[in-house]
Amino acid sequence: MKSSINLGKIFGIDLKINITFLFLLIWVAFSALLTGATIGNALSEVLFIIALFGIVVLHELGHALTARGFGISTRDITLLPIGGVARLEKMPEDPKQELLVAIAGPAVNLVLAGLLAIGLFSFGYFNQPISLSMVGSNIWVRLLTANLTLFLFNLIPAFPMDGGRVLRSLLSLQMGPAKATKIAANIGKGAALLIGFAGIFFNPWLVLTAIFIWVGASSEAKAVFLQESVKGLKVRDAMVSRFYQVDGNQPLGSVMDLSIQTGQRDIPVMSNGHLLGIIRRQDLLNGLQRLGNRAPAYAAIGSEPESLQATLPLKDALLKFSEDRVLPVIEDGQLIGLITPESVQQRMWLEEKMKVSQPPSPGENRDIA
Ligand code: ZN
Repeated sequence: MKSSINLGKIFGIDLKINITFLFLLIWVAFSALLTGATIGNALSEVLFIIALFGIVVLHELGHALTARGFGISTRDITLLPIGGVARLEKMPEDPKQELLVAIAGPAVNLVLAGLLAIGLFSFGYFNQPISLSMVGSNIWVRLLTANLTLFLFNLIPAFPMDGGRVLRSLLSLQMGPAKATKIAANIGKGAALLIGFAGIFFNPWLVLTAIFIWVGASSEAKAVFLQESVKGLKVRDAMVSRFYQVDGNQPLGSVMDLSIQTGQRDIPVMSNGHLLGIIRRQDLLNGLQRLGNRAPAYAAIGSEPESLQATLPLKDALLKFSEDRVLPVIEDGQLIGLITPESVQQRMWLEEKMKVSQPPSPGENRDIA
């Protein structure tokens, strides 16, 4: 989906801006002009929004660079009209590290607010009483207000806002991640309902924020549930170990026949016992169109997927599926299986069923209610 524009890199992290953000800028300029502002004023409104998003970038960098300190890289930072998102490769598993990563963003806003306040103070702005406001003539007062607002708003204990992560990590220290996430996610949904309800009366942006929080809380809970349910499992436990493979020189037409006859969508291509790559269904169709059905199989191999070691914890493998839908499993340099989201899902389904059908242990007290 090409809904974001790449702005370049900052500290080696891709900085992207959602297209809707540009609409926001146009909307701000137009609504300023419609309410009788001069072109100069409309332009300064636009500059204010851009400065605001500069602040959001610094906030996200707070998260990203703290995570980097714990060896976790950030895929990208995206600016949306309702804020920013830093996509970390993963969340730290240590609750204390998660706490620090979560709190680093709002801390940036607090520091910026402090610096702005010192600046305003030394220019004598606090000699007469001033009111903190996001509207008004002084852009520095507006930016100070914005930083304080971001600081407070993000500390609301609701996923996926920072306050929600702070809450989850604090609970995690007491009761483990699964239960902590469940509680924090429910609080997040409750907060989303309240914010959404308030938004109906006061500000439509809040409704958007509420949806953002609701979806975030749900997917966070799901992700942690997933991580928990594969705990202790290795890649080997969830792979498909019976599959067909073809030789690199086999013609594409026969690879297609094989794929249709067996229903196997992703076919490993071998040469002298070594994996050359995998032909996915789409690669196969492209290859047949481009090269014809007599072309050798190796010519149709798509991008080379990362191989997984059979003994890798399954939860680490889950992180790799965002780039590829099928991953080869290697043991002692040999291809021994394939792992796909479906094969993982089946294993988890089985795991779940086995848990339920286990008979009660002899000493267990079962109440009938
Ligand atoms: Zn944040």
